[in-house]
Amino acid sequence: MTADIIDGIGHKQAAIDAAVRILKDGLPVALPTETVYGLAADATNPAAITRIYETKGRPRFNPLICHMADLTMAERHAEFDAISKKLAETFWPGPLTLILPLRQEGRRIHPLATAGLDTVGIRVPKGFSAELIAALDRPLAAPSANTSGKISPTSARHVADDLGEKLTLIIDGGAAPVGVESTILRVEGGVITLLRPGGLSVEDIEAATGLTVERREGPAAIIEAPGMLASHYAPGAAVRLNARHVEAGEALIRLGGVPIEGMEQAKAVFDLSPSGDLSEAAANLFDYLSQADATGAERIAVTAIPSQGLGEAINDRLVRAAAPRE
Ligand code: AMP
Ligand code: MG
Repeated sequence: MTADIIDGIGHKQAAIDAAVRILKDGLPVALPTETVYGLAADATNPAAITRIYETKGRPRFNPLICHMADLTMAERHAEFDAISKKLAETFWPGPLTLILPLRQEGRRIHPLATAGLDTVGIRVPKGFSAELIAALDRPLAAPSANTSGKISPTSARHVADDLGEKLTLIIDGGAAPVGVESTILRVEGGVITLLRPGGLSVEDIEAATGLTVERREGPAAIIEAPGMLASHYAPGAAVRLNARHVEAGEALIRLGGVPIEGMEQAKAVFDLSPSGDLSEAAANLFDYLSQADATGAERIAVTAIPSQGLGEAINDRLVRAAAPRE
């Protein structure tokens, strides 16, 4: 099997029709979202959800984010406290996932999607996937469309190279504009906790709510947000962080046009954003990691990235990309 790739921009309606057919058959479809490409399946169908875990080689204790067409649909499946509702109204559609108590009455999201938890991670994506969910009229469980633990895909080409042989359909929506996964929050007792930094910055969340976002460290975060498993987002090559020079055999990823000692001997040089813009850097991160890997370099050296704004999400992904492999 080799996946068909359909242009979701030029042939949007045909792409939606084809995706709806396949999803109703209980098969996953790879599709564009503003964060990264997702591997989506009907969140109410256990066989379909099982195929996501199998296709990705993803551990089953790692729950999937359920994507909704809009807040109204989300409220049919989960209970919103006042702060979560305000966050949803402010930032949806967009790169924000909220962990919420599942509505038990008339429950439709299958426990395989939530790994048996009594909470569900919910997000309303922008663009093609929200239109598809509205057409299907069911939530879509969708992790990133890559082999578990590897670099996340930000283009249809990335998906095809990694999972093309295992899939029926990939929708091409162009380069994912945000480029890193959603920010995951949980609100409990009026306190907002950051479970995973992502495409929505903590600064923006704090400005919208007037609340301080708490950061959680340690094992609890690992269970709640397995995007937090130590080695994740890993290229084939080793990754060396906070590089101030380039060593023989390395490819270099830098930021803001800053010259780096020894860069003339790098196998290749990538600048995440020549102007130093961290949103642009996030959008380029996974593509440049993948291109740096494709040079055959034995190691990828990455310079220090500031930690404000989307820099927090970039650094989170880089630390996991550099973590010791199993
Ligand atoms: P991924 O789709 O791989 O980017 O990861 C989705 C993230 O959402 C994982 O880190 C999950 O642990 C997290 N997640 C999804 N549902 C829940 C939930 N009910 N409770 C806690 N975390 C969740
Ligand atoms: Mg992922």
